[in-house]
Amino acid sequence: MRIFDPHIHMTSRTTDDYRAMYAAGVRAVVEPSFWLGQPRTSPESFLDYFDALLGFEPFRAAQYGIAHHCTIALNPKEANDPRCLPVLEELPRYLLKDGVVAVGEIGYDSMTPAEDTALAAQLELAAEHGLPALVHTPHRDKLAGLRRTLDVVAESQLPAGRVLLDHLNETTVKEAKDSGAWLGFSVYPDTKMDEHRMVAVLKEYGLDRVLVNSAADWGNSDPLKTRQVADAMLAAGFGEDDVDQVLWRNPVTFYGLSGRLVLEPAKPAALHEGNSLLRGGE
Ligand SMILES: [Zn+2]
Repeated sequence: MRIFDPHIHMTSRTTDDYRAMYAAGVRAVVEPSFWLGQPRTSPESFLDYFDALLGFEPFRAAQYGIAHHCTIALNPKEANDPRCLPVLEELPRYLLKDGVVAVGEIGYDSMTPAEDTALAAQLELAAEHGLPALVHTPHRDKLAGLRRTLDVVAESQLPAGRVLLDHLNETTVKEAKDSGAWLGFSVYPDTKMDEHRMVAVLKEYGLDRVLVNSAADWGNSDPLKTRQVADAMLAAGFGEDDVDQVLWRNPVTFYGLSGRLVLEPAKPAALHEGNSLLRGGE
């Protein structure tokens, strides 16, 4: 079984997680740039973070046989902080980089006017750079948040077929599917979607354009949720080709829209900017 986790924050995870993910079948990940929990106070801390997503983290993933790409954006939550907004000016030079396969995570957190502005501006950046967009839908007031998101996408230059709407659930899947966008589901240990609800959604709405992710980060989450969904699909009567479509081919096709996806595992480099993962030399 080969698994592509299309949304996971590896910066917040350990090397044990990389080992366990590889053993479970994970061979590729996309790491969206997001909020760190601790608010950033200047655009410069975004830039160091983006550099880590393009440098140290793919280096680290390669040590464990996993291909790593990222998405770059001003996240919805920090779009409300005037100290962070100048990072929008820095995004174009990052969106040119080979490891960047989408603009994201963008979207709504609290549905404020500042979030409207940042979402619209970053959808335009995606269109200008020939990149798809990863759009986070709010965890509260989900259906209203989805509808407002779809309105802003419809007003943008980016076609819905180049948008992945993430954190969907039973209340939002139908309208999201009708929009023509790609459908992302984050499967968590004890909130939001679980693997059994996910299987029920797949039975009702089909497998086309559906992506499943762990969205594992610094909070309560599990980087093996993708594998648990695959196992639950098989137990529910789906075939191995169905699992491969949802857990591999769909994310490959979506992020492949960037023209930048490289799935052969990188040869692990010995050092990244003079550092290895070993302490005290070999
Ligand atoms: Zn996320």
